[in-house]
Parts: sequence; structure tokens; C-alpha cells
Amino acid sequence: MDDLLNRSRAAVWHPCTQMKQLEAAPPLAIARGEGPWLVDTDGRRYLDAISSWWVNLFGHCNPRINAAIIDQLGKIEHVMLAGATHAPVVELSERLAALTGLGHAFYGSDGSSATEIALKMSAHYWRNTGLADKNEFISLRNGYHGETVGALSVTDIPLFKSTYAPLLRPSVQVPTPDARLAEPGESAAAFALRCADALEAHLAEHATTTAAFIVEPLVQGAAGMAMYHPIYLTRARELCNQYGVHLIADEIAVGFGRTGTLFACEQAPPPSPSGRGAGGEGAQQAGIRPDFICLSKGITGGYLPLSAVLTTDDIYAAFYGDATARGFLHSHSYTGNPLACRAALAVLDIFESDQVIVSNRDKSDQFTKILDEVAAHPRVRHFRQRGMIWAFDVAGGAPDFAVRFHHMALAQGVFIRPVGNTVYVMPPYVTRADDMRGLARALLVCLNHPEV
Ligand SMILES: *Cc1c(COP(=O)(O)O)cnc(C)c1O
Repeated sequence: MDDLLNRSRAAVWHPCTQMKQLEAAPPLAIARGEGPWLVDTDGRRYLDAISSWWVNLFGHCNPRINAAIIDQLGKIEHVMLAGATHAPVVELSERLAALTGLGHAFYGSDGSSATEIALKMSAHYWRNTGLADKNEFISLRNGYHGETVGALSVTDIPLFKSTYAPLLRPSVQVPTPDARLAEPGESAAAFALRCADALEAHLAEHATTTAAFIVEPLVQGAAGMAMYHPIYLTRARELCNQYGVHLIADEIAVGFGRTGTLFACEQAPPPSPSGRGAGGEGAQQAGIRPDFICLSKGITGGYLPLSAVLTTDDIYAAFYGDATARGFLHSHSYTGNPLACRAALAVLDIFESDQVIVSNRDKSDQFTKILDEVAAHPRVRHFRQRGMIWAFDVAGGAPDFAVRFHHMALAQGVFIRPVGNTVYVMPPYVTRADDMRGLARALLVCLNHPEV
């Protein structure tokens, strides 16, 4: 184990890590996985309480996803998607279209590249329709959309962004409806509508130069699982319609059941023609329909890197024509990789055959009850939950609270990484009530520890 850690430190540049800190706090050397559990090279087991950076849905080494990939390996592992096509990518595109109400799936390899694709498509759409000045982007304060240079431009996490500011194209951040920021006595819905007014004020002045508003629906993950009222999305949809600006739903983290519906946008009341988020009654379709949806993370159940951007027929049509340059010429070597698509199809099969959205509803109620004692702990503030995400802020922590909590939890057999003073739990959907009880006990030990 020690040998592997030393070699890792010497040869691997770990992500989101000050490498010097790995001397005092070595990474876990993982040998294998089993459902929601990670097993290290010494045979110790850790509950993967954050689904390996939010990607894992149905556990490690899931037999059904394994079988799909193995079957595909015997057919074709990869073929380029320019000038060729294959059944897995066609079937996945058809099924994602049926599920999202959008279509024309364009594939990348990770979340950041999905953001890049959506931003480029949006600006290119306006250019193709004779409105090339519409090329600026709006995002929410504390929003996160990835860290490649274009995606980082619309991300608003100073720790990740400030160093690279000179490389980035400016974008505008509007107030976040994060319900923790509501005035005392103000409801989350009233606060969300107040924040939407600020979005409107910006659009009223800058719509002619704005291409799109990109947003993480319902939960701002990297901000520390900031949760907000769905009415904000309804208003955002109405305002984007009114001012002729695209709405990009970044469902990279919240998609595939995380917030309790297959996609988070489904929880926003549908817009009404009269505006002010008053819709709902008699509406045909659940939720709002964005102009672009970005998907990744859970799409392959945490198996293989894959992302997809889907859009409307109208937007697609603006690229369709005789002129090559009118087309979307973005290219990426592994676009639509068959192995990744087969993993994604297996994930969709599991959602259907196991009625995962329905069974997760009971599970999330049950898990919330299991966490009652944690929620009531005197150091816990703003305990919050949506679907299969739980989060709370911890008062009175040391400056390096996140690191201390992480290590204390490891000693309890739990793999968890707080964001600042926010602890969040985002377990694989195959986690059982007993696993969750163990997790609750571990969280209480950490919260009660004088050094955390
Ligand atoms: C993780 C994430 C991304 C970036 O995805 P990567 O695969 O890490 O590049 C973008 N947006 C959101 C909301 C995310 O959570």
C-alpha cells in the first residue's frame, strides 16, 4: 500500500489537490469496489457517501452495467462518429430525446466539454440567425459549470477561478436564489422570485448582447449543495422567452434522478403565458423545457466518461443548410464512444426495470429519518435535502474543517469530502438503510469530536 502511495505521489498529479498536502494526508489506495463500498489495498471498507464525485448511481461493479460493457467489447470498442454511426449511439440518442423532450444529442467526454458545446452552440445559433452580437453569457453567483477555460468563464467559484482570470472571457453573474440567503421570515419562493427580478433587470438592459443564461437546476452542487425553490426556474424560463435568450440547464450533477425526478427541470411549475410563474393548472407537460440540457456524471452510472448536449428542433434547424460553416463543426475524438453509450443504455434500463425514481422516493424519506439526529445536532445549520442529496453546514469548525472531517470520517469507514463547512451526502442509489445508519453514526462521531 505504501509503495503504491509513493508511486502515485511521484507519477500522478491528483485533481483538485495541493500535492504537498498528500504527504500528511495520503490518498486512499483502492483495490476494488462492491455496491456503495470502496475496498482499499489493505481490505478496509469505506462507504462511498459522495458517489465518487457524484457519478455513481447503481454501485461499483454493478453486474448489469458490467455485462453491457463486456457484450459491447466483443462487437466494437470505438469508431469515430464523423462519417460513421453505430447502434448504441443511435439508441441512446433516441431514448435521451424521449426522456428530455429535446433532441439531436451531441456528445462529449465530460461535463466541462458539455458546457463548452452548449455555449458554442448557443452563440453560433445567434450568429446563424443574423444576431452575432448575442454572444455573452449569464450564470448564477456561486454557480459551477466546469473548469476548462470556456466553462470556467461562467463558473463563479473564486478558489477555482481567480488564478485564471486573465485567461477568461468575462461573463455576468446574477444573484443566486440559494434559500439560505433569504431574509428572516421570507419564504424560499418569495426569495427566488426576488432573485428572478434581478435576472430580469439584467436582461431588460442586455438582452441584445446576451446569448444564454446557464443554470444548475435546483441544486448548486460545487457551491456546497445550495438548494433553491423551483419557481426560480419557471421565472427564468419565462424571462428567457420574453427577452429572446437561451436557457441552458446544466443537469450534469442533478440529472438522472439525483433530485427526486429523472431531471431537475421537471420539478419547476410550467410557465404560464401571463408570466410571474403562475402556471401549473392544466399544463400539458411537467416542468420547464430548457433550450439546451447538459448531461454527464451519472449518465454512465459512474463507469465511463461521457457527456451529452440536447437541444430543440428550432435551434438545430438554424445549423442545417448547404453552407459547411453553418454547421456545428465542433469535434472530439471519442464522441459517442460505443462502450460509454452501452453503459448509459444499461443505466436507463435499470431506471426503467427497477422503477428507480419511485423506489428512491421511499428511500429518500427513510434516509432523511435516519439522519434526524444529525439534523438536530447543535452544530448543524441549514439541514437540507432534495431527492438523494442531503447537506448541512457545521458551526464552530476549525479553519481546515473539511480536511479534518474527511479524515475523521475515513477512520469511521466513510469516504466523504465536505465543501468548506458544508457536509453533504450523495450516496449511490443502491445504498441500504443499514449503510445509512452506519453513516449517520459516523457523522455524529465526527460532529462530536473536539478537534473537528
Ligand atoms: C461536475 C460538473 C461539471 C463539470 O463536469 P466534469 O465532468 O467534471 O468536467 C459541470 N457542471 C456541473 C453542474 C457539475 O457538477
